[in-house]
Amino acid sequence: MNDLAHDYLGLDSLLSPGELELRARVRSFVDERIRPNIAEWYEAAYFPRELVKEMGALGLLGMHLTGYGCPGRSAVEYGLAAMELEAGDSGLRTFVSVQGSLAMSAIAKFGSEDQKQRWLPGMAAGDLIGCFGLTEPTAGSDPASMLTHAVRDGSGWVLNGAKRWIGLASIADVAVIWAKTDEGIRGFLVPTTTPGFTATTIEPKLSMRASIQCDITLTDVRLPSDAALPGATGLRGPFACLNEARYGIMWGAMGAARDAYEDARAYALQRRQFDTPIAAFQLTQQKLVDMVLEIQKGLLVALHTGRLKDAGTLRPEQISFGKLNNVRSAIAVCREARTILGGNGMTLDHSPLRHANNLESVRTYEGTDEIHTLIMGRAITGIPAFSPGPAS
Ligand SMILES: Cc1cc2nc3c(=O)[nH]c(=O)nc-3n(C[C@H](O)[C@H](O)[C@H](O)COP(=O)(O)OP(=O)(O)OC[C@H]3O[C@@H](n4cnc5c(N)ncnc54)[C@H](O)[C@@H]3O)c2cc1C
Repeated sequence: MNDLAHDYLGLDSLLSPGELELRARVRSFVDERIRPNIAEWYEAAYFPRELVKEMGALGLLGMHLTGYGCPGRSAVEYGLAAMELEAGDSGLRTFVSVQGSLAMSAIAKFGSEDQKQRWLPGMAAGDLIGCFGLTEPTAGSDPASMLTHAVRDGSGWVLNGAKRWIGLASIADVAVIWAKTDEGIRGFLVPTTTPGFTATTIEPKLSMRASIQCDITLTDVRLPSDAALPGATGLRGPFACLNEARYGIMWGAMGAARDAYEDARAYALQRRQFDTPIAAFQLTQQKLVDMVLEIQKGLLVALHTGRLKDAGTLRPEQISFGKLNNVRSAIAVCREARTILGGNGMTLDHSPLRHANNLESVRTYEGTDEIHTLIMGRAITGIPAFSPGPAS
């Protein structure tokens, strides 16, 4: 009976002993280091920077990358870790995504040997923090409209512009900044101590409170010629990194949903009204069953996608399926879980509403629901519907 409550379809049987062991290790870390403190951190809008080195030691930073101190784990292992972290809080999974899938991936995929040597080992260990600056105040879903630009200046570059919503920027050591150049959009590694670089935390936020996002301004930021990432020109570069992060999100969202379901189920079994545990009401059971249906389906999608990724056959359009479906259903699960908690669900003693609020960010970054719908729509019709042309 209990097995069915926690793994209805027996999906654990699809995981290898090594995958289960890694999941158990990350789950213990979350239980010991995140779960006891997250309500306080969320309330105080505090990002626990002190956990960064611990996450590095656990091999969670740049997990799926190989060499330069990175653990070289599989896509499924990375997904399982993302799921466990987000069962703790989306903010902590987001940290791992920004550091590993965005900033480190950009350097690993498109950096020179010198750039990789300089940044990746320290980032994998958690000694150095990276951020990834693509979004701007007036360029979100349409990054091609970015205004930040870099011009050649002698042998170097000068950057000017602004970025918005950039995770970790105020505590980062290096910022991957995407900017327009005469050659197309390019990525630049900007040490955050460079004169002209400023990062200001965006607050107060109603979502993702235990993590940091910033406005960045770049005013005559002078960089040497070797600050540019040599391997990427055009939006192909940032999109390749976004695909890595989007993949992790489809797992992470299921972690948040699972945690909300577990909380609601436990509450329903002990909370009594009308002289009966509320879990005995048919309406409550329907809610719990609907949650199990969505969580198990989402896990299957994530696992199948991960196996495709590990086989090297995953297409970007297939990542949109998991990101769109799993985040959308995770929000619905968390909100429904909150209803089972009644008034007590409004407090930080329970996780569902915190998760639901966090997932509003998750459904917005790395491509909104609408953008992933358009990606899938283009894939199945062959017709891009992103732009109706200039509005009159
Ligand atoms: C917590 C958080 C963390 C983030 N971290 C980072 C980060 O580390 N680095 C980074 O670069 N960015 C980051 N972002 C930014 C994020 O990627 C953007 O918010 C996202 O791409 C959406 O852009 P926007 O907010 O400008 O919304 P807009 O693009 O202005 O969209 C507003 C609405 O219009 C809809 N819309 C837009 N175009 C279309 C269309 N063609 N058809 C139909 N609907 C459309 C959108 O779906 C949305 O509903 C983060 C955001 C948040 C909230």
